[in-house]
Amino acid sequence: MEVLNSQIPEISMVASADNSYTETQAKVKRQKKTVTSSYLKTLQQIHALTVGLVSCLGFVIAVALLLAGNTLSPIEIGTYLALTVIIGIGTTAGFHRHFTHKSFQAAMPVRVVLAVLGSMAAQGPLIFWVALHRLHHEHSDRPGDPHSPHFHGKGFFGMLRGLWHAHFAWTIDYDAPNATYYANDLLRDKILSKVSQMYFLWVFLGFLIPTVAGGFLRGSWTGAFYGFLWGGLVRLFFWHNMVWCITSVAHVFGSRPLESHDMSTNNFLLAIPTLGESWHNNHHAFPNSAMAGLKWWQIDPSGWVIRALENLGLVWDVKTPTARMMEAKTRTA
Ligand SMILES: [Zn+2]
Ligand SMILES: [Zn+2]
Repeated sequence: MEVLNSQIPEISMVASADNSYTETQAKVKRQKKTVTSSYLKTLQQIHALTVGLVSCLGFVIAVALLLAGNTLSPIEIGTYLALTVIIGIGTTAGFHRHFTHKSFQAAMPVRVVLAVLGSMAAQGPLIFWVALHRLHHEHSDRPGDPHSPHFHGKGFFGMLRGLWHAHFAWTIDYDAPNATYYANDLLRDKILSKVSQMYFLWVFLGFLIPTVAGGFLRGSWTGAFYGFLWGGLVRLFFWHNMVWCITSVAHVFGSRPLESHDMSTNNFLLAIPTLGESWHNNHHAFPNSAMAGLKWWQIDPSGWVIRALENLGLVWDVKTPTARMMEAKTRTA
């Protein structure tokens, strides 16, 4: 995020060195929707490849150990599930529904907790994530969408190429969103900007907590290793793939009951592992809804957490579409 922020002083430096550089030009540059920077692109690629390879390696080691006869204790299973759900909620209820779409209001301590938990998912700093996702909604399944699975060729292989692009390949080659254009509300917030800048500390904590918990609960270094492996690496592997399923699968396979001006779909099978995010057609139809599951049977754990926080008085102004609004967007054919 610090890299993106550096675009602002860069503009003023140019303006002072060249009198012909007007404020209007500076404004236009500030509002450019994407940032062209080979340095930034290199950083993105290093981040994406590191996360992809390290989490994949962790998953392979975990499976190999299981095949070699190592059994999991309730401690590893509990650490893995707890970290996945808590950090996942930081991504879904926090980064996505609150910070990106402002689907509910929350007190600052709650906002900070959600921002920290979401950062632990290692999917980029808060402000960067928000800017990128707002860019996706602005261009979803049209030119400019960083991760559309469409328009990658015809037929079966075109679909496979599109799914691979939307699932992982896009993470190492896309134009970074200009945060001053897409996430100025968060950039102007001193506390949340600070949380966003401290991204790597939160990612580190996301590994340290399960490692310490595993070591403490088992009372051994082996316990610490298994905590790191399952609560850290396997959790990272699983949750990244679930979020990538939303960018890939949930724009190709599934039902499209609502008008959303893109190819987003609803997927029942992914509802629990994605904590409710797979009602993606619902989401694109009503991006500002705090609930992604809009019918009683549409399982939406993130929405339930938001409702629970509302009942506790920690969040308020929880937005949902009315029955009339849903009816107006329901496809007839
Ligand atoms: Zn989408
Ligand atoms: Zn969204």
